[in-house]
Amino acid sequence: MKFFLSSKNNGKIREFERIFHLFGIEMLSEKDFQAEMPEPEESGLTFEDNALIKARAGVVFSGLPTVADDSGLCVDALSGRPGVLSARYAGVHGDDEANNKKLLSELQNVPANERTAHYVCAIACVFPDGREFTVIGKCEGLIDFCRTGSGGFGYDPLFISPIGKFSEISAEEKDNVSHRGKAIKRFEEKLKEFI
Ligand code: IMP
Repeated sequence: MKFFLSSKNNGKIREFERIFHLFGIEMLSEKDFQAEMPEPEESGLTFEDNALIKARAGVVFSGLPTVADDSGLCVDALSGRPGVLSARYAGVHGDDEANNKKLLSELQNVPANERTAHYVCAIACVFPDGREFTVIGKCEGLIDFCRTGSGGFGYDPLFISPIGKFSEISAEEKDNVSHRGKAIKRFEEKLKEFI
């Protein structure tokens, strides 16, 4: 059985390949096709909506059952922003440096006890026969006053999880508590019901 992963992110591709291997499923991504997949507009208001948009586009492109994810950071003092706009918070998609700067500046007058936030990861799975499901994982934490550490990516130099800053702990430690780690565990359980 073959599945398609609707992502251009090599880190995500490796992560999902490992899981699908456990189910005896071969996972294909865009590089296994001759054509380039048109990027769907991530116009959803929720992480689940955007993950579904990407997964449905993957089914149309590949004709295979498709998995896609969407993730981001929700800050309570900013009424949940940057949320689904996390990757392009400061304007340019994936500019982590600018995104972190903007976040620090928006929170400059917010005291430590009000800097609560959580990461969210939604994973969607869509089958060519129309069946679909989503799972979600969350990780609660606090936004620091300055960036430290060199690990992780995105907002990790600012995000203090219950076991330490995501930029200062190992990838395995992060996986154990992270939004993505939790969503992937739920995804594995749910997938068993569908295949
Ligand atoms: P996407 O899921 O690839 O659309 O990424 C959303 C954005 O959310 C990323 O560009 C990061 O800015 C942020 N993000 C999502 N997950 C994490 C994480 O685990 N650490 C740091 N930033 C993250």
